[in-house]
Amino acid sequence: MKALQSVNPATGERVGEVTITEANEVPAVVSRARAAQPAWAALGLEERGRLLVRACQKLLDKADSLAELLTREMGKPLANALGEVKTCGDAHSDVAEMIEALQDQVFDDGRIRTTQYRDPYGVCAAITPWNFPISMPHWMCLPALIAGNTVVLKPSEETPLIAQAYVDALNEVLPSDVLLIIHGADETGKALVASDVDMIAFTGSREVGKKILAASAGSLKRVVLELGGKDPMIVLHGADLKQTGRFAARNSFSNSGQVCVSTERIYIAKDSADAFVENLCQAAAEVKVGDGMDAGITMGPMVSERQRDHVLAQIDSALQQGAKLAFGGRDHHGNFVMPTVLRGVTHQMAIATEETFGPVACVIEVESDDAAIALANDTRFGLGATVFGPEAAALAAGRKLTAGMIGINKSCGGAKGTPWVGAQESGYGFHSGLEGHRQFAQVRLVSMQHNK
Ligand code: NAD
Repeated sequence: MKALQSVNPATGERVGEVTITEANEVPAVVSRARAAQPAWAALGLEERGRLLVRACQKLLDKADSLAELLTREMGKPLANALGEVKTCGDAHSDVAEMIEALQDQVFDDGRIRTTQYRDPYGVCAAITPWNFPISMPHWMCLPALIAGNTVVLKPSEETPLIAQAYVDALNEVLPSDVLLIIHGADETGKALVASDVDMIAFTGSREVGKKILAASAGSLKRVVLELGGKDPMIVLHGADLKQTGRFAARNSFSNSGQVCVSTERIYIAKDSADAFVENLCQAAAEVKVGDGMDAGITMGPMVSERQRDHVLAQIDSALQQGAKLAFGGRDHHGNFVMPTVLRGVTHQMAIATEETFGPVACVIEVESDDAAIALANDTRFGLGATVFGPEAAALAAGRKLTAGMIGINKSCGGAKGTPWVGAQESGYGFHSGLEGHRQFAQVRLVSMQHNK
């Protein structure tokens, strides 16, 4: 039996270990989930919802210890970890929305009466990343389960312990084998994709998403992919430069930049750039970097050496190609990368086109608002985007952007009931909101003719 070690990225200390599920062991786990599925589906939507709310309550009961484990394993500040646990634990309104989304619907045209059902697919594989190591599994598992599927979760190899703790907490309430977990890296993930599952719900990088889509084509498995981004922020003429500078810092450095909708590219007119960068750097200077377990820390380490090296390599390469350091960029130590502001970034640099997933704000100076829109759309990604400026102009610019979620003078997230959706190569299918919940169910129609 091989073990997967979990290491604290702030201190290098070992947090614990789990047993790796070898590829040849995966089919037996999937068989257990399949055997449990009919009874789970037979409970009905309302009863599954009731059980899931109770199961999630277990996360609230253990919120402090779960948050501590999350921080020790992944690095984010304890207060943020606690927020993540509590948001998942309080599932009442999310479950109510899912129940609403999955109701049977009757259509009657006077000639034919059709009932549209939303049935479970069967067994759903959930494959998830490490950056929100409770929420990401949660947003794949919860809608799959409520729709009547059973789930086999393969969490990131960077955060196995907190994912195991999440599953253990829910399983205090859920029937046996309804939610199973397997551990390992890509070999375990590939075996799960190749196994007898009916659906794959994946959150992670664009590269792995493409591999999963290709690998599941042979059996036409249903696939939902929530992938990476390279989110632009456009600062239009007339924007409040203080507000936008602070927003840019928050949205570039939050979770050490390890957020799929982090602000990674900022487009601003040349004549506003100095004032904007000054405000951005002031906000960057307020970030307190350190071990997320320590009081007052607002930014933890990168999750791993690999992620740190990736971010530092992009910064170094941009500097070599002529970008200028406006803040940070030095004094990195261990897995800690300091908040960094770069100016003079161009689309010839990898840092402007490839996902960074680190605490770096890249400022790109443009001649006009139209040029900003054109450059913002010069990407194969398309997750989130933000536009700041006078409302009518910002709305008009927002409608020209190719992202899936566009925030006007705010971050990109939508109102309750709307999905989390990536366009272009940032997504294939989507989750959350009424439309997102429905992607975990097979539409099935039963029609009858009206008697003449
Ligand atoms: P990753 O793609 O490297 O890994 C994600 C998961 O896939 C892990 O569990 C990994 O073990 C597994 N995996 C790797 N290769 C596999 C394969 N061939 N077959 C099956 N599974 C495989 O991503 P990561 O580094 O864990 O997370 C960061 C990425 O996730 C970023 O690109 C980020 O933007 C993205 N992300 C997207 C969203 C969103 O909602 N769109 C949210 C969070 C993170």
